[in-house]
Amino acid sequence: MTAVPVTIARRVERPAGAAGDPVSVAGASGPLVDTHGRVHRDMRISLTDRCSLRCTYCMPEQGNEWLARTSILTLDEIERIARVGAAAGITTFRLTGGEPLLRADIVDVVRRLAAIDSPDGPVQIAMTTNGIRLPEFLPDLIDAGLQRLNISIDTIRRDRFHELTRRDRLDDVLEGIAAAQASGLRPLKLNAVAMRGVNDDEIVELTEFAIAHDAQLRFIEQMPLDAGHTWDRTSMVTREEILDALATRWTLVPIPGRGGAPAERWALDGGPHTVGVIASVTAPFCGDCDRLRLTADGQIRNCLFSTTEYDLLPILRAEGSSDAALDEMLRSSVRGKLPGHAINDPSFLQPLRGMNAIGG
Ligand code: SAM
Ligand code: SF4
Repeated sequence: MTAVPVTIARRVERPAGAAGDPVSVAGASGPLVDTHGRVHRDMRISLTDRCSLRCTYCMPEQGNEWLARTSILTLDEIERIARVGAAAGITTFRLTGGEPLLRADIVDVVRRLAAIDSPDGPVQIAMTTNGIRLPEFLPDLIDAGLQRLNISIDTIRRDRFHELTRRDRLDDVLEGIAAAQASGLRPLKLNAVAMRGVNDDEIVELTEFAIAHDAQLRFIEQMPLDAGHTWDRTSMVTREEILDALATRWTLVPIPGRGGAPAERWALDGGPHTVGVIASVTAPFCGDCDRLRLTADGQIRNCLFSTTEYDLLPILRAEGSSDAALDEMLRSSVRGKLPGHAINDPSFLQPLRGMNAIGG
């Protein structure tokens, strides 16, 4: 089967022959190297677009267009794609969503993926979650092979949490974080999207909260990925502002050796505690990006902000289809990867999918 990408919003124009066109990339085997020399090692797998919260920067309160249940990948389909990815050099699978813990077979997903080998050895399984239901699942997830955990928490004030997530569930998230702290999974990471007039007065407090839970906080610049399309550049809290707020309390010492990681990190007062900032908008790190994304309905995306998707579903569901066809679709996606996102370009178009349907 020929790999045919599907454009799901108007593509940002670029000159013919410019970087990103499907030329001179890695061949039909070997690692997933794009036209800019970036080797892809990390696959984010969104397990569902459903969620127990409704964070304002991610999902609308009502009227969300859910993915069709029949198009949601099965456990066998996810495992098959992961095996093809691992054979092509993917070494880390991060499970996300929507809320990955809403998936009934979540422990089996972790168990099946953790059993996969890449040419570099066993793969790593990580998860990004809002933490709700973690106490119930964590022992089994760890037993199944989960190795790393990121939990999202944007505020530790109850009223604010309710307003921001449109659900009164701060206590459930705090219980999830406590369970993670009590587990052996380290480093434990907490994610917080910084928002003006919402939680930008909590930057120090959230960092102290993370330290008290033996976790590393990473502040995320808000990105134009909300399903409600309400993002506004002028109101987003920038990396510089986050660092200024942190500097009121700690001396920040940059930690070198970031590699392909999205977060820049700083030691607080020389360490051992650290804080990170993921500055996708004001300091993009696309040049070192090693990530591919698989949506819950079987689309490969080569960038969070991509408007083109590569559909694995027809291949997966065609009788007798070969893994080679899936591999070719992954490679086609990697070949089509642009050098960087265009958030800061006037021609930028927000993807049609909200973050909950892409997988953060
Ligand atoms: N539900 C899980 C959670 O919240 O951790 C996993 C999915 S969520 C989409 C993954 C991450 O994306 C979360 O840390 C969330 O804060 C972040 N996120 C969602 N929308 C965002 C946006 N518009 N800008 C920046 N980060 C966003
Ligand atoms: Fe749900 Fe995570 Fe999106 Fe919040 S950020 S609505 S918890 S998917």
